[in-house]
Amino acid sequence: MRIIHKPLDLKSFSAEQKALNKTIGFVPTMGALHDGHVSLVERSLNENHITIVSIYLNPTQFNNSEDLSNYPVSWEKDCSILDKLGVDVLFAPDYDSIYPDLYTYKLLEQNLSSRLCGAARPGHFDGVLTVVMKLLHIADPANAYFGEKDYQQLQLIRGMVKAFFMNVNIIGCPLIREDDGLAMSSRNRRLSSEGRSLAPRLYQILTDNSIRDIDAKKTALKDAGFEIDYLEQIDGRLYVAVFLEGIRLIDNVAVKGVA
Ligand code: AMP
Repeated sequence: MRIIHKPLDLKSFSAEQKALNKTIGFVPTMGALHDGHVSLVERSLNENHITIVSIYLNPTQFNNSEDLSNYPVSWEKDCSILDKLGVDVLFAPDYDSIYPDLYTYKLLEQNLSSRLCGAARPGHFDGVLTVVMKLLHIADPANAYFGEKDYQQLQLIRGMVKAFFMNVNIIGCPLIREDDGLAMSSRNRRLSSEGRSLAPRLYQILTDNSIRDIDAKKTALKDAGFEIDYLEQIDGRLYVAVFLEGIRLIDNVAVKGVA
């Protein structure tokens, strides 16, 4: 696996591959890789000649500096996972190369991005959309893979690609869960063993049909020990963010008939 740090080097690599009629698949991540990420990478490997994965812990999408400094990092292990999977290129830029403008230019969406995670984390989606736009311009893939774990993010990225006539297919991939139902997340590894055994209650309560309305679900979540950031139903999908031991966990499920 080749590791590339500079945007212009990756641009040249992609241009060369395209000249050879190779299809490029791209999977952007923030590292601390788990099987959720692996599912995206495997899909890209299956559907493209060349797979590029990026690892970039993007500071502009963190509104909380503690959340950023506590975000898990596992560079060596990530490299070995990607190498074993057969990834062609790992793109690992630094802040100065991704933000030569020092983030004076940014991409704003003014509707969906102020709801759910955007209401709770002001500026979060400005950072996400800006960095994804940059990464897509640099990697220049035919296909880019995003998880339904971050369902709102996926919708916003689809909207951005449409709004700016960008030449890439955005491919949404199913949310991968642990055996006990907990949505896989890099942040899960920060939970204590007690927190880790409580965390699956989030998904259980979300999907418990005997707790039907939103307020009852909120009460059940609080009683279980979660601090609720939001729980909302939009267009047949239930979106939730909670804090457990100060760690933010998000999840979403398709629902029928929750009041
Ligand atoms: P992150 O490293 O958290 O920024 O995630 C990188 C990509 O992996 C995003 O498109 C996420 O939606 C996706 N992802 C993270 N966790 C999961 C999961 N449990 N299942 C599916 N996709 C995921």
